[in-house]
Amino acid sequence: MRTRLRRTALAAATLLASATSVVAQAVDPRIEAILDDVSPDRLYEYLEALTGFETRHSLSFSDRPDFGVLPAREYILETMQSFSDRLRVELDCYTVEPQGRIPIEAELCNVVATLPGRSERRVFVSGHYDTVARPDVDLRSGGGGGGFDWSRFDNPAPGANDDGSGTVLTMEVARVLAQSGIDFDATLVFVAFVAEEEGLVGASLLASKAEREAWRIDAVFNNDIIGNSLGGNGILDSRTVRVFSEDPMDSPSRHLARFIRRHGAAYMPGHEVRLIAREDRFGRGGDHTAFNRRGYAAVRFSESRENYSRQHMSADTLGGVDFDYLAKNARVNAAGVATMAIAPPAPVVDAGRGPMLARGETGYHADMRWERSPGAVGYRVVWREAWTPDWQYEVHVGDVDRHVLEDISIDDYVFGVAAIGPGGHESMVTPYVRAPRARSDIREVGR
Ligand SMILES: [Zn+2]
Repeated sequence: MRTRLRRTALAAATLLASATSVVAQAVDPRIEAILDDVSPDRLYEYLEALTGFETRHSLSFSDRPDFGVLPAREYILETMQSFSDRLRVELDCYTVEPQGRIPIEAELCNVVATLPGRSERRVFVSGHYDTVARPDVDLRSGGGGGGFDWSRFDNPAPGANDDGSGTVLTMEVARVLAQSGIDFDATLVFVAFVAEEEGLVGASLLASKAEREAWRIDAVFNNDIIGNSLGGNGILDSRTVRVFSEDPMDSPSRHLARFIRRHGAAYMPGHEVRLIAREDRFGRGGDHTAFNRRGYAAVRFSESRENYSRQHMSADTLGGVDFDYLAKNARVNAAGVATMAIAPPAPVVDAGRGPMLARGETGYHADMRWERSPGAVGYRVVWREAWTPDWQYEVHVGDVDRHVLEDISIDDYVFGVAAIGPGGHESMVTPYVRAPRARSDIREVGR
């Protein structure tokens, strides 16, 4: 391991005795090789095939082998099967009754490719392969909004960018990770979701199954509208990508977002991850939310500059996708997923009785304890002022399960700890947070 990028964090007037400013993560040459393998030409090849089916509306059932959702999902399935014998690729199907934007009973299928790891913990990468298009453009809706005829399934909806881009990114990340030869600790799950446009239907069905069957999902990297670099307002940006994460400031999703930026900066220093502290774009949604609602860490990657005159329109064609930009965004995904899947699981800091954070023997220290993560050889303890969004200070500690920061107030700072594996790969940070307590037991006189 070597450190390629050393970047001091915010100027720290109060730099504390035992701490250093947070520095960037070291890089692993094997992960660099995975990123080099991401191919803009392959992304183009997959997307050209997908847009060739004219529409991928979730209900565009047809006997024609060159039209609609059925051959499209078959193409995704067979293409991912061709990547590696290690990938287990299958349709994940559900029969839904008529409801909401789905006027007929229908069998809806996600395409799921699983790369088994040494452990049961799962990391997801996803996009949605279904499309929808309305007849007229309404820029005031910001690409979302109404205007759809939900009883019509067959109008041209190529969905090159929404969300063919996220689908082919997911396929390519599946290929480079499956072909890497690395024996990952985490099980990797690559999903092309169905019926996002009808209300996160495919994602909600799979997230419910995960919850019912008590799957451990450490992270969902969802990609939706991720391949366009030229905004509808004429502003070009092919050097940054947005990652949206739900509130509050120490939600699991927010920690996933911080993790993605940290490892994106290490492996893709010229391609900035812009963290957006909200669930999604204003008034709009995506499949990550189906996982958020069930308590999982899930974020949305989206391009920095959108072009609303192409979204949900027949004009959403291959010409609106910048394949070099899409490849960079695939590499940011792959860097985060590979690191997380090689690293040990994140430490447990709350074994059911609240965060394991106390004031130490003097009453004025930060006394942090955690449960050791399997496979970890050390830990990185981090903290920040409670009004600050990202970690400011860190200290590397050995294979221990406790660290005391002297005279650092647990009232004024937020604390966290990450596990580090033998190759230097680091888990997500687990924060010490206390769930808000509701008071409902106050009795009023006379009631
Ligand atoms: Zn979409």
